Amino acid sequence: MPEETPSQTIAHLLETLQAALREGNAAKAAALFGEDGYWRDLIAFTWNIKTLEGRDQICAMLQSQLPQLGPIQLRPDPDETPSQADGVTQGWILLETAVARGKGYLRLRDGKIWTLLTTAAELKGHEEPKGVNRPRGAVHGVHTQRRTWKEEREAEARELGYQQQPYCLIIGGGQGGIALGARLRQLGVPTIIIERNERAGDSWRKRYKSLCLHDPVWYDHLPYIPFPENWPVFAPKDKIGDWLEMCAKVMELNYWGSTVCKSASFDEATQKWTVVVEREGKEVVLQPTQLVLATGMSGKPNVPQFPGAENFRGDQHHSSRHPGPDPYRGKKVVVVGSNNSAHDICAALWENGVDVTMLQRSSTHIVKSDSLMELALGDLYSERAVASGLTTGKADLLFASIPYKVLPSMQKQVFDKIRERDADFYRRLEEAGFLLDFGDDDSGLFMKYLRRGSGYYIDVGASELIAEGKIRLKSGVDVKEIRAHSILLSDGSELPADVIVYATGYGSMNGWTADLISHEVADKVGKCWGLGSATTKDPGPWEGEQRNMWKPTQQPALWFHGGNLHQSRHYSLYLALQLKARMEGIPTPVYGLQEVHHLR
Ligand SMILES: Cc1cc2nc3c(=O)[nH]c(=O)nc-3n(C[C@H](O)[C@H](O)[C@H](O)COP(=O)(O)OP(=O)(O)OC[C@H]3O[C@@H](n4cnc5c(N)ncnc54)[C@H](O)[C@@H]3O)c2cc1C
Repeated sequence: MPEETPSQTIAHLLETLQAALREGNAAKAAALFGEDGYWRDLIAFTWNIKTLEGRDQICAMLQSQLPQLGPIQLRPDPDETPSQADGVTQGWILLETAVARGKGYLRLRDGKIWTLLTTAAELKGHEEPKGVNRPRGAVHGVHTQRRTWKEEREAEARELGYQQQPYCLIIGGGQGGIALGARLRQLGVPTIIIERNERAGDSWRKRYKSLCLHDPVWYDHLPYIPFPENWPVFAPKDKIGDWLEMCAKVMELNYWGSTVCKSASFDEATQKWTVVVEREGKEVVLQPTQLVLATGMSGKPNVPQFPGAENFRGDQHHSSRHPGPDPYRGKKVVVVGSNNSAHDICAALWENGVDVTMLQRSSTHIVKSDSLMELALGDLYSERAVASGLTTGKADLLFASIPYKVLPSMQKQVFDKIRERDADFYRRLEEAGFLLDFGDDDSGLFMKYLRRGSGYYIDVGASELIAEGKIRLKSGVDVKEIRAHSILLSDGSELPADVIVYATGYGSMNGWTADLISHEVADKVGKCWGLGSATTKDPGPWEGEQRNMWKPTQQPALWFHGGNLHQSRHYSLYLALQLKARMEGIPTPVYGLQEVHHLR
């Protein structure tokens, strides 16, 4: 018998899986998975962001969800060609439930499913008005009560939040709030975004002067309006600020700048929020049904409380308030911290002739930008990937198709290669006294980001300055006391300082819940971010997905959105669809609501 082609293998498997699902036979469906098989679902089956690990978990999910999902269709994506390599057959799939259509990705090993990704991309009957369904714009004919687009927009801006309540309120108008707001706009969900800053984009503009994105353009696109072909690979922060402002305008978002959320409370009886905001100095009370905190992972500065800090005679500030090097020429600056912000700030100070010392209290993961682009991101996000036909949407799904349990071992291979390639660079850094790590399990940058959102620097030049001793380094010590003109260190030495910059990172997003809603609700929803990997700053138990992000939380109608530009783009779709489904009264039976193991 001739051997099956990869296309036939995928098609047969999907037929068998579909038949088992349509029979409602969860055990039969689960048996098609290998013992170490994974099913990652982005809302299509679970109305949650969930990875099921192993047959038992898959079977339990299906037993719970199948009765409510209606007839399920699974088929190979006719526009794609499955492939086979290294014993893995893989390919794109299309899927439908009673209420949604979506895409997925399947990998088979030894005739069994190794990984399955399923996602909902649109809700039936509520498709976005695009392509052949794009809005007409002009209303042809004769209409005596005709209002122009501008008049309609002005009326909406006047009325929403006053005469009419938004269905959804997004607190925070950075890239997260804007990406989600754009998707909700397309889905017809009345939404207001409130932002403390005056203008969209200010959250980037206000960061330190030298900041350019560390991630490349192919990874950073926003939904609907990808960057143009001449956009720089690493955009400067003010340019990103302008882009975000443009997006907020042309995507017709109801974006309230200079507006601060003061408090929010949920009324169990009406199932609505009461949110008190101050808009340009005037109090407005909003009553949305859904509340999204898009207040940023990097919004709550972690400022260490060192003894004697009040006695310091110079300028001391957190990196989020660092103005850049200009005021500090001729001064001695100590930067406490050794991650991205610390490196960027030190390099800009050195470039401006400032005497700068980095204080490294614990080890840091460093990866050279070029190596990261080539070896870690290049297959999915690069000009090479674009030339091979990989769209941003496909790259996002391929990345999403690798379960978080499997990702570290794959990433370790990549970072082992990087370590080998840049061995001389790492040796020189260590010789300069720099404390290096590659993560607890050597899995490198992405895992550190997903687990704890900190602990790394993507090197764009500062490491060389450290290796050469141009940025002075004091490592493996902590601050014992701040004195009037110096810092006393745990090894007994003293560092003279006119300026101290605390590049000490940011607190968990659920601190915002305590500030804006209550400690009780903050404790009810628990920690945001992290996978439960039992590695540094990401305590177990294993969660399998990032805590509380983009999915239902223990507090009804409260959602968290954020992350880097890639995550804001990709996951805003699933959050927007969850909100739209609720607005339309589409049943959204949530499977496996996350339990709370950590408060913060
Ligand atoms: C130094 C630095 C470099 C980074 N580099 C990159 C990079 O290269 N690529 C990348 O993808 N990511 C990067 N990030 C991470 C992340 O993308 C950014 O932090 C980004 O700004 C997050 O977007 P966001 O919308 O989630 O949050 P933010 O941009 O922080 O936006 C949250 C908004 O909420 C507002 N807000 C907070 N509280 C209230 C309130 N009570 N009422 C009203 N408004 C409120 C704030 O004013 C703020 O504008 C970097 C982060 C930092 C700190």
